Amino acid sequence: MKNFLPFVGLLLIALPGWTQRDCRSLDYRQQQLSGNPTLAASVEAIEQFTRLQLRKASVIVNGQGGKESAPSRITIPVVVHIIYNSPSQNISDEQVLSQLQVLNADYGKTNADTAAIPGYYASLAADCGFSFVLATVDTGGHTTTGIIRKHTNATSFTIDDDVKFGSRGGDDAWDRDRYLNLWVCNLSGSVLGYSSLVGGPRETDGVVIKYTAFGTKGTAQPPYNLGRTATHEVGHWMNLIHIWGDASCGDDEVGDTPQQQEATYGNPNGVVLSCGNMQYGNLYMDYMDFTDDIGMHLFTGGQRDRMRTLFAPGGFRHALLSSPAAAAVTGPVVVSGGNTISMTVTEVRPNPAIGMVSVVVQDRAVVGSLMEIYNQVGLRVMAVRVTDLSTPVNLSALSGGVYFIRIGGGPGFKLVKM
Ligand SMILES: [Zn+2]
Repeated sequence: MKNFLPFVGLLLIALPGWTQRDCRSLDYRQQQLSGNPTLAASVEAIEQFTRLQLRKASVIVNGQGGKESAPSRITIPVVVHIIYNSPSQNISDEQVLSQLQVLNADYGKTNADTAAIPGYYASLAADCGFSFVLATVDTGGHTTTGIIRKHTNATSFTIDDDVKFGSRGGDDAWDRDRYLNLWVCNLSGSVLGYSSLVGGPRETDGVVIKYTAFGTKGTAQPPYNLGRTATHEVGHWMNLIHIWGDASCGDDEVGDTPQQQEATYGNPNGVVLSCGNMQYGNLYMDYMDFTDDIGMHLFTGGQRDRMRTLFAPGGFRHALLSSPAAAAVTGPVVVSGGNTISMTVTEVRPNPAIGMVSVVVQDRAVVGSLMEIYNQVGLRVMAVRVTDLSTPVNLSALSGGVYFIRIGGGPGFKLVKM
């Protein structure tokens, strides 16, 4: 019997790789961090920044919940580097566009399969407020389709980042402060994709996806033909951690995701309990789990907030907000209604403000409604009930900057906190 055991062990190890989602972002992360204390410090500093932003965002004065208003949109210009060896790896523009459509649907919660989220978890699903557009301007200011095609002699790539360098058979990254770099190539073995880590070097920033798991047509092969590998990896690119926290009952640094013991594979259904996560169990339909594309349906509000902290002033991806590549495509990225005087909030006194303000409304009908205050990147930082035609609000807890007050999802009233 002794001789059989290693054989059985090999089988158990070897079988999963054939059909199960294989994201290598964690391997990549550990490889990068190993023996690099400077990078580890940079990653930790970003984590501290994220926690601080989220603490600020959780200031609720006398609000009692209430529906979140649609967040403002952040537009991310994308450059897709198609690195092909065989002609079939040189995927079509249509296939690239199909991937962009999935990213926009999934990050905007317009994906049709939100209907498949079990009712008990439906309220967790969030519109993350991100839009993805192919860049129309390259780093030199010239017009581009946002799609780069390059032949390589390499028959496959690994997580060693060769694909991100022209000198190593790939294609150089474009400026990460202006673009999200997506490399599409043949990744070796079962690897579907990996993301750089937030805080890592500029030259390797971006996401790599296997050409058979990209988009919804052409070379995309089931069960990874619904574009969710990119949704998942871009989640890592915006600092999301696997939903089980990469440890048995680990922590994904997100408050509204239930604790979960381990990765979920395939396309499960029903309640799967673990780690005492009564009563509805694992959130295996989250994009940051490991199910097949067809089993993934949502990001949560907590994941949205964690991602969006990167875009706050001082955040790792804040520079993308003023990317000329985005501006050229979609116009300035601002909070919607930011400069519009709301029909509901008519005045804030004083404005600019230091501490107490009076928020004035014209119509008594909104008394009792939730007044929400958002920062410039669309994170809700405060919620207060409208108590009268003039409601006192204490802004002392907010840091200096520009905010927007909205009632019932109406247009934002601009407020400056000194
Ligand atoms: Zn992953």
